[in-house]
Amino acid sequence: METLLHYLIPTLLVLGTVAFMEWFAAWSHEHIMHGWGWGWHKSHHEPHDEALEENDLYAVVFAVFAVGLFILGAYLWPVWWIAVGISIYGVLYFFMHDGLVHQRWPFKYIPRKGYLKRVYQAHRLHHAVQGRDGCVSFGFVYAEPVDKLVKKLHTNQRPFDPEALKDDEQRPSIH
Ligand SMILES: [Zn+2]
Ligand SMILES: [Zn+2]
Repeated sequence: METLLHYLIPTLLVLGTVAFMEWFAAWSHEHIMHGWGWGWHKSHHEPHDEALEENDLYAVVFAVFAVGLFILGAYLWPVWWIAVGISIYGVLYFFMHDGLVHQRWPFKYIPRKGYLKRVYQAHRLHHAVQGRDGCVSFGFVYAEPVDKLVKKLHTNQRPFDPEALKDDEQRPSIH
């Protein structure tokens, strides 16, 4: 029993934190980055040639916060596992968003089916609307079905780029 709890509680803390972080990331993306925090996030919605974006500062803020929790976690063990969860989420975020969708890694892989394709297309739809308002799909690891998102774009009555879903290897990479 004791061994079970020894593993169970950290596992639940990590999984719970990862799930919470997806909710929190989607919430803050919609209400902060597309709200009063648009100043930094704007750089991510505009085409550019630089390797870094002002928007990356958000990742730095999250990383500093996680490091802070690791330090606190040295004294308070549940906090340490929460910091582990946030770090795992950071890796997932980088893989899905920076890697898969925006190809900030040195190879090109476009998912053609299943879950990865859905998340990929959903985030392309996030970038299909110009500017801050009327965007859809704010999560990074979970995405609503693509047809639902397209319906939402129509309801929002904002012009959007229908090319976003084109399944074309030659398509220029988006920023
Ligand atoms: Zn955005
Ligand atoms: Zn993006």
